[in-house]
Amino acid sequence: MSWLEKLLPPKIQHTDPSDRRSVPEGVWVKCPSCETVLYKSDLQANHNVCPTCSHHHRMSARDRLDMFLDAEGRYEIGQEVLPVDALKFKDSRKYPERLKEAMQNTGETDALVVMGGAVHNINVVVACFEFDFMGGSMGSVVGERFVRGVHAAIEQKVPFICFTATGGARMQEGLLSLMQMAKTNASLTR
Ligand SMILES: [Zn+2]
Repeated sequence: MSWLEKLLPPKIQHTDPSDRRSVPEGVWVKCPSCETVLYKSDLQANHNVCPTCSHHHRMSARDRLDMFLDAEGRYEIGQEVLPVDALKFKDSRKYPERLKEAMQNTGETDALVVMGGAVHNINVVVACFEFDFMGGSMGSVVGERFVRGVHAAIEQKVPFICFTATGGARMQEGLLSLMQMAKTNASLTR
C-alpha cells in the first residue's frame, strides 16, 4: 500500500469490481454486515445466513414457513380475510395506497401468514409475520388471522407457534388495531 492509499479513507480505497451496482438486481445480494456479494440462491440454500460472516438476513414470512414446515400437508388459514379502510384514514398518503404498495412489494395481502402443517411429522399451526408489509404491523386482518390460527390449534389439540416480526399496532386502523390486543390475548388464554 502506497503512502497515498494509506491517507485515503477506507471507502475510497475500496475498489473491488464486484462492489459496483452493475450486477443484475435480484440475482446478487450484498451482505450488510461483511459487504460480501452473495449469489442469492446460495444465500437461500444457507437459510438466509451469510456463509462468510454468519449475518442473519431478513426472511419473508413465506420463506420462513417454507423452511420450517414439512413439505407435505400444508394449508393456509385465514387468507380470505382482507384489509379494509374502515376509517378512511389519510396521513401523508391514503391507507389504501399504502396497502396496495405493500401488496405489490411483498406479494402478501397483509402482514401475517398462518399455516397448518407438520414439523417432522408433528402437527402444528404456525403464524408468521411479514415485516416488509407495513412493518409487520397488527391491524384487524392480522388479529383475525392470528385468532383463527389459535382456534384451529385448539380444535386439533396441536401446538400454536408464532414467529414475531412486528413494529406494533397499525396506526391507520386506529382503535380497531388496538382492539386486536384484547382479541389475540383472549384467544391465547383459551
Ligand atoms: Zn456477511
